[in-house]
Formats: sequence, C-alpha cells, structure tokens
Amino acid sequence: MGIPLLDLKQQYLSIQAELLPQLEEICASQQFILGPKVEAIEEQIAAYCQCKFGCGVSSGSDALQIALMAEKIGPGDEVITTAYTFFATAGAVCRYGATPVFVDIDPVTFNIDVTKIEEKITPRTKAIIPVHLYGQCADMKAIMDIAKRHGLFVIEDACQAIGAECNGLRAGSMGDYGCLSFFPSKNLGCFGDGGMVVCQDAAKAERLKILRNHGMAPQYHHHLIGSNFRLDALQAVVLLAKLPKLDDWTVARQKNAADYAAMFADVEGVTVPRAASYATRHVFNQYIIRIGSGLRDKVWSGLKERGIGCAVYYPIPLHLQECFKELGYKEGDFPESEKAANETLAIPIFPELTMDQKEQVVKAIKELVTK
Ligand SMILES: *Cc1c(COP(=O)(O)O)cnc(C)c1O
Repeated sequence: MGIPLLDLKQQYLSIQAELLPQLEEICASQQFILGPKVEAIEEQIAAYCQCKFGCGVSSGSDALQIALMAEKIGPGDEVITTAYTFFATAGAVCRYGATPVFVDIDPVTFNIDVTKIEEKITPRTKAIIPVHLYGQCADMKAIMDIAKRHGLFVIEDACQAIGAECNGLRAGSMGDYGCLSFFPSKNLGCFGDGGMVVCQDAAKAERLKILRNHGMAPQYHHHLIGSNFRLDALQAVVLLAKLPKLDDWTVARQKNAADYAAMFADVEGVTVPRAASYATRHVFNQYIIRIGSGLRDKVWSGLKERGIGCAVYYPIPLHLQECFKELGYKEGDFPESEKAANETLAIPIFPELTMDQKEQVVKAIKELVTK
C-alpha cells in the first residue's frame, strides 16, 4: 500500500459528474479553439488572481514566452532570474535569444535572494522573473522597488503559486505579467497542457491575445509575429469545473502542511518549510523538507523503497545545467541553490492525503534519519 506523491484520481472523481456533460457539450459543438469557455475562464482566473485581464495560452512555459515576446525581449537583452527553479523559467528567456542572468536563493524560502539582484543589473537588463517556488511568493515588494528604480519589467513566474499572496496581494497581480501553468500537477491542473498570462494593463492584454494567435488581427493581417499559443475549449471547461474548488483544496494543503510541521517538530535533522513574513498565503504546491548531514539521498531512496512518493525539485540548479555551460557559471557560484539541490525533498501534500498517510510518511522519514 504505497502513498503516491500526488493522487489526481480522487480529485477527478469529485468533479466527474459535473464535468463530463460539459466536455460532451464541447464535443457536440466541435468548437475546440478559443471561444466562450476560454473567455469565461480567462475572466474568472484573472479575477481570482486580482488581475484585470487573462490570456489563456498553451502552457506555463508559453505564458513566460509570450510575456517576453510582448516586451520584445530578445538578442542582447538580459533577464535576471533565480538559479533554483524549473527549467522553463530560464528556457523561455533563451528561446528568442535573450540571456538569463542567475541570482542565488534565500535559504529559508528557496526564492530569489532580493539582496543579490541589484549587483546583477547592467545596461542590457530588461526584466526580472521572480519565481514563487513551491507555492510561496518571492519578496515582491523588494523586487518591484528594484524594478521601478531601474526601469525593468517584472514577469512573475506564478506557475506553482496560483492564489498565493504577498502582503495580501495575489501572485501574478504585482508585476507587469503573471504566468500560470495548468499542468496537471499544479494546484489548478487541466487534462493536459495549459497556461495563462494575467495582467492589469489593457494594451498589454490586447498584445498578448494577438501574439498567441500568430500575431493576427484582424484575420490574416499580421502586424506582429506571434505563434500558436492558444488554450483550447476542452481545457477551459475542465478549469471552469475545478476553479470553484481550488480554495478548499488549498485549505486542505495548508492543513497537511500544519500537520506535518507539528509531526516533524521532534525529528532532528529535518527542517520544515518556514513562512516569510511577507508571504501571507502559501498554497503549498509542494511540501519541501530539508534534510541535512548528507542524509537526503538515503531518505529519498528509502522512501521510494517503501512505496512512498517523493521527489527532488530540483537536483541540479540551473547554472550547472549542461545547456547553460556557455554562460560561464561554475560550481560554488550559488552556494544556497547548490545546497538546496542536495538537501531538499518533496513529500506528499495533495489535498486528499489522510492523517494515516501523513503519519506513515513521517514515521518512515524518522526511521531513515535516525538509523
Ligand atoms: C510548471 C512550471 C513551469 C512551466 O509550466 P508548463 O505548463 O509545464 O509549461 C514554469 N515555471 C515553473 C516554476 C513551473 O513550476
């Protein structure tokens, strides 16, 4: 009887009855591309994120991409971001020829260390992409202050953080653009790939919508070069069914986190997530524990042997990735990112996790760190 890292089947069963007829309706209409369901979810998710506009796109990676395209960030431009995130954050920067410039993380939150951003700003810097990693906001007030002082765009990578808050403000609402992913494992996941860019500015929203459809407006007239970054109606219907339940799921994740924190209190060698004072709503897309003394890999393999789902997000920081070799970084450049890569472990946090399952997870980890 294993425990999965993520069990999406239970969530599906809770929306199945209501969702299937709506999927059937789309199938009957055979209208799959954009349309009223996509417009409805754009409006609802924008509002959920305290934003005025939403532009549904094909993935979180494409959300980042299209935000960069909208500001014409390309060859010769630099974009500052964290060394410790999912690859897509930096991959999007490179895709059209701009250069990612990495900054180390704060060891408590795993988010970009805001005290190390300014030293990386050059005349070529165009934007900062903070990532709200694991569902906890980066220090957006500090980041927006820096961006204002230097005239930089801010693109929030909120792919793991829909509904998270920084000083009461929602992830995605504070920068120029907020990028969301609906990859199935995110807190709001669709049945495949999907994403959205949210923003507060009508002109920016208009440009995003044109770019996601080949830069076409009106039909077959192209003033901009875009591509196909569209969200489809089937995914929109799934998201419309799930969004009303997202807050309950978030509360369940937060409850799981609180239970774990209490259960790990007397386990030496395990550090549980700590909230930054400004991170007023952590949505726990992942629950990340830190295991010191070189024991992480032992716990990682030990849990796997016991059938308990766990994962390392992420085992190699971006500055040490093979594909970024020519950027010239080396081991030791970002000690906190490298330490996180060696010490962190994600354990099950999904909303339907039971108390018994949590106890089993903690018991196994306790044995593995003390044995
Ligand atoms: C998931 C994720 C993305 C990419 O989203 P996709 O929808 O998988 O393309 C980007 N950044 C971060 C931090 C993510 O977690």
